[in-house]
Amino acid sequence: MEITFLGTGVAIPQLNRVQSGVLLRLEDKPLLIDCGSGVLSRFPEAGVSHTEVDTVLLSHLHLDHVADLHPLIKANWLRGSTSMKVYGPEGTEEWFLKVLDAYEYLQEEVDVDVIELFPGEAFTPDGFDCEISCTAASHSVPTLAYRVIGEDGEFVYSGDTEPSRKIIEFSADVDLLIHECSFPQGMKVTNHTTPSTLADLLEESDVEIGTICLTHFYPDMQEHEKETINRLKRYFEGDVILAEDLMKLEL
Ligand SMILES: [Zn+2]
Ligand SMILES: [Zn+2]
Repeated sequence: MEITFLGTGVAIPQLNRVQSGVLLRLEDKPLLIDCGSGVLSRFPEAGVSHTEVDTVLLSHLHLDHVADLHPLIKANWLRGSTSMKVYGPEGTEEWFLKVLDAYEYLQEEVDVDVIELFPGEAFTPDGFDCEISCTAASHSVPTLAYRVIGEDGEFVYSGDTEPSRKIIEFSADVDLLIHECSFPQGMKVTNHTTPSTLADLLEESDVEIGTICLTHFYPDMQEHEKETINRLKRYFEGDVILAEDLMKLEL
């Protein structure tokens, strides 16, 4: 299983980080998790054809996680790929159709199946040899964290969230936890994670996690990379990695 970070940024533009997107390759087939602005332009940079993607998981409907979904569907249609399955939390279908409604010419051309998921559900997307389950993250709108169980390994993608005991327990025994870390330690924030709030939760938990990879960085995180790793390493024995756009991890 190969994981490519297409975008590790947020709603605020910054150098070298576009908005959220993670491309997972299971055997030969890619699956995209989140599709924020800038993710589509990372496909050629990652050496992946966007037309290969016919399955997308959305963690939630904030623009920095969904803004390039309709552009991806249009780009695929222009290259002859018209079908897409989109999984997301409650409200995904209404949001998707409202945006599509503004582009009448596209409605006739594409075949998009939207599947809304609820915390606790598990499923296998068509054509993939894996199981995906979800749980609720702790964010300002309905948000799902996903656990992907493939033949070679397992990982959890937290989506946007405050540190949550539920997500840490959901991550028990995974090889990799991809967790958001929007702001540097010491900042008082809600709906998002800082190194200190995540470290506090890890300190009181005895869940086994192989590696933690942090992503979803606000520009405020610049220059705080080292202290972020040091803070987490006090309570976590595995590797702590900070994601970068186009970084690849193998499981
Ligand atoms: Zn976000
Ligand atoms: Zn969000």
